[in-house]
Amino acid sequence: MIKRILKSIQDMVNGTGLETTYEEVMIQGITINSREVVKGNLFIPIKGERFNGHEFIESAIEQGATATLWKTGEPNAPTSIPVIYVEDTLLALQALAKAYRNELGLKVVGITGSNGKTSTKDIVASVLGTTYKVQKTQGNFNNHFGLPITILQLEEDTEVAVLEMGMSGFGEIELLSTIAEPDAAIVTNIGEAHMMELGSRDGIAKAKLEIVAGLKEGGVLVYNGDEPLLLDRVAKMKDVTAITFGDDASSDYYPTSIELKADGTTFTLNKTDNTTYFLNALGKHNVANALAAMAVAKSFDVPYEAMKEGLASLQLSKMRMEVEKAPSGLTIINDAYNASPSAMKAALNFVHGLTGYGKKIVVLGDMLELGEQEVAFHQEVGEHIDKETIDYVFTFGPLGEEIAKTAQARTGVQAYRDKEALINEVKSVATGNDLVIVKASRGMKLEEVVEALRN
Ligand code: ATP
Ligand code: MG
Repeated sequence: MIKRILKSIQDMVNGTGLETTYEEVMIQGITINSREVVKGNLFIPIKGERFNGHEFIESAIEQGATATLWKTGEPNAPTSIPVIYVEDTLLALQALAKAYRNELGLKVVGITGSNGKTSTKDIVASVLGTTYKVQKTQGNFNNHFGLPITILQLEEDTEVAVLEMGMSGFGEIELLSTIAEPDAAIVTNIGEAHMMELGSRDGIAKAKLEIVAGLKEGGVLVYNGDEPLLLDRVAKMKDVTAITFGDDASSDYYPTSIELKADGTTFTLNKTDNTTYFLNALGKHNVANALAAMAVAKSFDVPYEAMKEGLASLQLSKMRMEVEKAPSGLTIINDAYNASPSAMKAALNFVHGLTGYGKKIVVLGDMLELGEQEVAFHQEVGEHIDKETIDYVFTFGPLGEEIAKTAQARTGVQAYRDKEALINEVKSVATGNDLVIVKASRGMKLEEVVEALRN
């Protein structure tokens, strides 16, 4: 984490007002949350819509804050600890992160895209971790607060930072990219999320490609070559070294064979004829994520042999196609972290291809925040279900009902709004060697179904 004397901090944030007696005081780490302050921290109070961090300065001091930034004009600046005044504390947080990133002699990988950012981040970190000292975004800390905070947590001896970049509108990825200045940028894919703000899938492509705004000179853009909207836009870019990954030989990195199983995935790569890679993650979509990671690793001179180890030892974040075997023998795929139409279809494709189970049961809940076309998106997912290979479809929530309307399955389709009733029904049909996959938006809390099935 950042350790600097206050004089340096004042320069980095372009602040004023630090008393000379405090110039040599050292801070260790920053926090924007007064409850999370630990001794030595620089407190950065943020003024939001609901809370004003400046009002929590007393508690930050009690917890051991060494110094604080302060918005000029904000009343009641503390007198017991050093204060640096700035125009805007959020901009100061971002400026501090940008300056710190530049002082560190490390490389940065920035990852955006509609689906698979966190998964790809985990894969990139695992593959690069074989060769470099790597730090990555914790959890989903991927926005205009999370990304600068993540940068300020980097250690001086870290060699590569792997940073997730999320967005909900134009200009956001550009901001994150100019703070992080990636040496390699990944665009995983273009989905349907945030259509409301961005107007169209092409709008989403444009917004994701803002990631080149901060790309370091000589840096690489790694993107999904199966997405025409990205291909068109990248073709028009000047001075960008672009590498594609995708399904077939039209991309630079593509799998020459894939074997999908419930305990992991093996594939071969066009670049290395005689090597079989085992990826400790499920589904073809994770092969795409792995190819993106391998393209970046190659540009960082990681040997393919090392990449192979990193793919095999991968641990994905929780609830992303997480497989477990319940004591009853039931196989449960917990994919309840999030959902969008493309992620749901990717998960269904995977389950369609699995063999060797008793019954195959899918439990799907609402996909939230899809805007005007939400009903159509849910109905499309229903249509996507392969009635030849899926035995039961259970849906949860009002939008889930739209999935149920178009879905067909070998034995039956049932829609629920009551989670207890859903759980009881799934429990009564799922036995022995069956497989159940559970997926919905985070807000639907379908992990409760997983918990119930586990016991
Ligand atoms: P968020 O926007 O919530 O941060 P994210 O982009 O970080 O999401 P992940 O958390 O990695 O995405 O994955 C969310 C879900 O998307 C996974 O559970 C998986 O089902 C699906 N997914 C992962 N990678 C892909 C991909 N390449 N294509 C389609 N779906 C994917
Ligand atoms: Mg994420």
